Amino acid sequence: MIVQKYGGTSVESVSNIKGIARKVALEKAGGQDLVIVVSAMGDTTDELMKLADHITTRHHKRDLDMLLSTGEQVTVALLCMALREEGVAATGLTGWQAGISTTTDHGGASILSIAPERIQGELKMGNVVVVAGFQGITGDGDISTLGRGGSDTTAAALATKLGAERCEIYTDVEGVYTSDPRYIKNAVMISSLTYEEMLTMARRGAGVLHPKAIEHAMPHNVPLVVRSSMSRVGGTWIHGSPGKGVSHPVCGVVFHKGRFCYTLSPIQNRMEIKRLISSRLTLWGMEYDTLIEEGGDTLAFLVAEDDLERADSIFDRAGAIVRRDRKATVTVVAKDKKTCPVIRDKVRQILQENRIAFHTIENCTNHVTTVVEESHAIDLASLLHSAFGLDEVQAFEAAGIY
Ligand code: ADP
Ligand code: ASP
Ligand code: MG
Repeated sequence: MIVQKYGGTSVESVSNIKGIARKVALEKAGGQDLVIVVSAMGDTTDELMKLADHITTRHHKRDLDMLLSTGEQVTVALLCMALREEGVAATGLTGWQAGISTTTDHGGASILSIAPERIQGELKMGNVVVVAGFQGITGDGDISTLGRGGSDTTAAALATKLGAERCEIYTDVEGVYTSDPRYIKNAVMISSLTYEEMLTMARRGAGVLHPKAIEHAMPHNVPLVVRSSMSRVGGTWIHGSPGKGVSHPVCGVVFHKGRFCYTLSPIQNRMEIKRLISSRLTLWGMEYDTLIEEGGDTLAFLVAEDDLERADSIFDRAGAIVRRDRKATVTVVAKDKKTCPVIRDKVRQILQENRIAFHTIENCTNHVTTVVEESHAIDLASLLHSAFGLDEVQAFEAAGIY
């Protein structure tokens, strides 16, 4: 049995959905059991957000989840209809019908458990099961959503629970690239990555795969394959062991816009305040970074745009003067963490040569992350991509060493 997930662009039109139904019908006829997870069609989720914004921008999160979860449900119904037209018996399920239980954090819920009986029963009857991505149900019986890009998480969590052979993520690019191919023209597709490498790439901005999807697959060693829904070429395997051959020392250069930097200054008991704020951010379930500061009386934290409201309420109570600036991070992901000091020196040199003001993030293990003005992010990523020899990776690949 395999789990396949089709993203927004892959299901953006009825003709795309019919194309997927034909592909699934062929695979089913070949004896493959299939669970299909789908996203909302095209920009549907953005459009639904806009509708809500026309009423208020102070959203009631339960209402918003009620609204946003409808996008995926439309795709489920249409794909089931298209499958039936292909002569394939299909059962469409919403998140709760598929047994997906989540935390109560509306808009950013985590999957707590999956009751697999319904899906297993449908598979046993020979049906293809189509599940709405990005949604589940809370302990109170309310519809929840998993955060933008959350259909990846649904697919990986289902693959893990159901013991699938692999989880295929179909999207609008051929696989995971050394950087976002939409902005970095020399980015190259990577054929194999370990879970740890992909997790860092994803957490630091490679939006092609949700980090939580990797977190679900990794402990159970379920391979993830990112590939194009339009073409048969390419594909990136993400699994437990490193690929064969001599690999390039750097996996990729990724960037993340819309990071917010809170600077507290001046502060006296730096360590104490740092500990206090860190524990509050963690308690509220927020991922954050701390910046390495030169002076001893400044403290700076970086949080994601989605967490701004909650972060504001924590920092407002911090007592020291707080400044909030919009920034971006640019990250070089290393194959081997031992090479990080060398990478750090080279990144610093490039930043200085190009007169780009920057800060560095603490506690990076297998990567080097710098914080820069948002307007510098793409240019810097492009510079680093070239400087670390990733522009020439195709040549390495041809020689069989990537
Ligand atoms: P889907 O709707 O299929 O989930 P997404 O938009 O979420 O698609 O993800 C695919 C997009 O991710 C690509 O179009 C690409 O611009 C972007 N992306 C960002 N970083 C990377 C990367 N390192 N490799 C490949 N794609 C990336
Ligand atoms: N439809 C949701 C989004 O646009 C979830 C997903 O596509 O993964 O973020
Ligand atoms: Mg996505």
